[in-house]
Amino acid sequence: MQILDGKAIAEEIRREITARTAKLKAERGVVPCLAALIVGDDPASHIYINSKEKACRQVGIESRIVRLPGNTDTSSLLRHIEQSNADPSVHGILVQLPLPKGCDEKPILDAIDPKKDVDAFHPHNVGLLSQGRPRFLPCTPHGIQQLLVRSGIQTAGKHVVIVGRSDIVGKPMALMMMQKGADADATVTVVHSRTNNLAELTRQADILIVAIGRANFITASMVKPGAAIVDVGINRLPDGKICGDVDFDAVKEIAGAISPVPGGVGPLTITMLLQNTLIAAAG
Ligand code: NDP
Repeated sequence: MQILDGKAIAEEIRREITARTAKLKAERGVVPCLAALIVGDDPASHIYINSKEKACRQVGIESRIVRLPGNTDTSSLLRHIEQSNADPSVHGILVQLPLPKGCDEKPILDAIDPKKDVDAFHPHNVGLLSQGRPRFLPCTPHGIQQLLVRSGIQTAGKHVVIVGRSDIVGKPMALMMMQKGADADATVTVVHSRTNNLAELTRQADILIVAIGRANFITASMVKPGAAIVDVGINRLPDGKICGDVDFDAVKEIAGAISPVPGGVGPLTITMLLQNTLIAAAG
């Protein structure tokens, strides 16, 4: 059984990004810059933003964090986005989710210049992705694809079953896996909370990608022997420990490969954000 070591692969990709960032600076004098907007004091969101800032620093990317109070409304957040859109020294913009109640997520994300939309949430970028000509690949699905490819797991011709249909993970993951070409070419099934006979479908997966946010939901009886399992879930148990959506200890006995939580998909998500910021800066 192979452990899909997201931490090691993230380090490998970050070394590549560091070298490319240094080359961009040396050859064109451009330092990639990410502007991150965070509203309110949700502790988990602040942890995420701080780790994104640290990761930027490690690879030579500048980060500018705009911390706004919890009572910030949609129009004032829109003004901040317009400022970053107009600032030529800012190459990537992200808004940390979830936003507090006073902020309307859709118009805010839609206001980001698609060329600076390093999370790839803008409808323009989702459309380009669905047509197989992406400007930016969405960070978590791209991280999962890299985890598979760099671990030697082929997707072409395989049955990939994705559990969860969110705009951030499940849906773009399905779009990426069904594209023509290397590192894709899969046959894709997406299942969700309204799916009948979910276990029957997960048992057919050569590659099972789980992103639902339900601790230990996938058990050994839901997995085909030898399958590759990618666990995207991040769940906090009552004792404070973090676990995924897959019952790791039981499923590892039957799977061919499995990603742990933590140390699987998480480090790759931030890594692909760094890569998108570099791509945005390189133009
Ligand atoms: P959402 O809550 O947006 O979506 C969850 C999806 O799971 C929905 O499509 C929902 O179905 C489905 N679902 C929920 N319960 C069940 C069930 N019992 N059976 C089948 N399907 C179910 O979550 P996200 O996609 O944003 O995140 C999912 C998990 O991944 C979370 O734990 C999150 O923290 C984690 N995550 C991790 C990242 C990382 O970098 N490692 C990045 C992003 C997310 P329906 O649509 O029918 O409601």
